[in-house]
Amino acid sequence: AQEALRQAQKMEAVGQLTGGIAHDFNNMLAVVIGSLDLLSRRVDASDPKIRRYIDAAAEGAQRAATLTQRLLAFSRQQPLNPEVVDANQLVPDMSELLRHSLGADVRLETRLAAGLWRTHADRNQLENAILNLAVNARDAMPEGGRLTIETRNASMQEQDSAAIPGGDYVLIAVSDTGAGMSPEVKAKAFDPFFTTKQVGKGTGLGLSQVYGFVRQSGGQVRISSAPGEGTIIKLYLPRFTGDACDAAAEPQQDLRPGG
Ligand code: ADP
Repeated sequence: AQEALRQAQKMEAVGQLTGGIAHDFNNMLAVVIGSLDLLSRRVDASDPKIRRYIDAAAEGAQRAATLTQRLLAFSRQQPLNPEVVDANQLVPDMSELLRHSLGADVRLETRLAAGLWRTHADRNQLENAILNLAVNARDAMPEGGRLTIETRNASMQEQDSAAIPGGDYVLIAVSDTGAGMSPEVKAKAFDPFFTTKQVGKGTGLGLSQVYGFVRQSGGQVRISSAPGEGTIIKLYLPRFTGDACDAAAEPQQDLRPGG
């Protein structure tokens, strides 16, 4: 529990730091992208060199903007559009995309619990998170293997072993039969820019983005992994129970008089 608390405090501090930087960069990049757009409309079309320079600058700025958006997701400052989501529908809807991303050597298996609760989350971001996890799993199984996506209702008591705050959650567990993580990698896996992949192969932002999105949605993420034993990433998303859940997802306005 001590370790979990330290980890949470670290993520909080790193999140605040990166969030501040990402926010400022995002604003500056908006100026750069907007100005390049104006410039490209006015430039002399007869000079292909100038066009190429502008396109290269715009492409670089666009990549930087994608990166800052992932950092904003990590620091829970990304605008979300939560809606009621049935994971038992969302997961099968993704199966074609997942199979394509996993390639021929990785088998996809889904286990969907009957009577699954619904959750309240941003559908696109949730799909994005599951896709991120699947791509990581594929990378951990270069010789092939099996990716399992399981859904389940999870009622957590206050003092369970995983230290999830008590309450009802929709659990989406993504597990692979891949290389697994050493304790050192596991401890850093959510850190932005932490990657064990080759330069150009990984940005180290996938799990950070997943972490930030799930926490911003009022949920929790847990990793179980050991070298040679594969990896399970569990997303605990809050159960949708009507108005009560809406209130949790969107911070209540302060309605006290005299404010
Ligand atoms: P990236 O995939 O760009 O490296 P991530 O934040 O998604 O960034 O992952 C960080 C690191 O965590 C990876 O480089 C890898 O070492 C480890 N990791 C993530 N998912 C898995 C997995 N399913 N199996 C083994 N290691 C993993």
